[in-house]
Amino acid sequence: MGTPAFSSRRPANAAQPGAGTAALTDALHRPLRDLRISVTDRCNFRCTYCMPREVFGPGFAFLPHREVLTFEEITRLARIFVAHGVEKIRITGGEPLVRRDIEKLVAMLSAVPGLHDLTLTTNGALLKKKARALKEAGLQRITVSLDSLRDEVFMAMNDVNFPVRGVLEGIEAAAAAGLHPIKINMVVKRGVNDDDVVAMARFFQGTGHIVRFIEYMDVGTTNGWRMSDVVPAAEIVRRIAAELPLEPVEPDYYGEVANRYRYQDGSGEIGIIASVTIPFCRDCTRARLSAEGKLYTCLFTDVGHDFRALLRNGGTDAQLAAFLQSVWRVRDDRYSEIRTQETAHVRPKVEMSHIGG
Ligand code: SF4
Repeated sequence: MGTPAFSSRRPANAAQPGAGTAALTDALHRPLRDLRISVTDRCNFRCTYCMPREVFGPGFAFLPHREVLTFEEITRLARIFVAHGVEKIRITGGEPLVRRDIEKLVAMLSAVPGLHDLTLTTNGALLKKKARALKEAGLQRITVSLDSLRDEVFMAMNDVNFPVRGVLEGIEAAAAAGLHPIKINMVVKRGVNDDDVVAMARFFQGTGHIVRFIEYMDVGTTNGWRMSDVVPAAEIVRRIAAELPLEPVEPDYYGEVANRYRYQDGSGEIGIIASVTIPFCRDCTRARLSAEGKLYTCLFTDVGHDFRALLRNGGTDAQLAAFLQSVWRVRDDRYSEIRTQETAHVRPKVEMSHIGG
């Protein structure tokens, strides 16, 4: 049995970025392929590792509606990003399902020519109500965050006492609506929910849903991150494999975030997102657009490039395209590779709730 050896992430034959397209590449030769669009900075949860209540309390100044991009503005930008190589759009937040009429945006984005993959990340609280409308609007698949199957742990982590049952019903509704695949994201924090890792794997084994275990990250500046709270990917795999034998799986595509493993008995697969212990900046193809229209070229930067000003001051598509090119071409982010360097992790960073994971 034993623990499977770690795949070195990128086999030589992993498909290189879009042969034949005039790919827009950055200073480290990484193409732009994956756009995460935050449609709101608000959320109905207060997860302690992302939006701690002490900071995001009743007095917190969220973005006023007039400052948030309209669905038309988002779709216009999406068309320009797709024309520069974006193949996948992930709708995020805050919590995207709290944005009114979100399915209208899904329909608009799903009609963007050349977009191959449209997905969304949600905490699942509103999914039971919204799943069918999202699917009918053109959403292909979905990712649901669920950090524990034990109410006392999960409710403490989301800090709004939302029960596990509510998220599971959302996942069931998403499956019934035909959203596929469904991925389940679990952020693993030592001493908080790491005892639930094997139970989570076992619960979704054989369901067709893919659990992705995420190393706890120093996102933003408000979650009090410590390296000692991180459960390394190797340990997560070891714990699961000790009870549910695993074998590594080759990446599906260039820039895939998760290390994939399948159960040796063929009952499904899991993923490990190891930004801390196995950085994947080398082939990071992701850009993030905040709800007020700023482009962030890394999850761990505080530099946002303002597209809204151009959008709202008569900027042409050509001007927006030129701005995008000027931003991406000089991009050299590789934070996770330098995180452990002395001062790296104390630098200012945008909050994850502001740009989505
Ligand atoms: S740290 Fe930044 S550059 Fe590295 S993988 Fe994450 S988003 Fe990409």
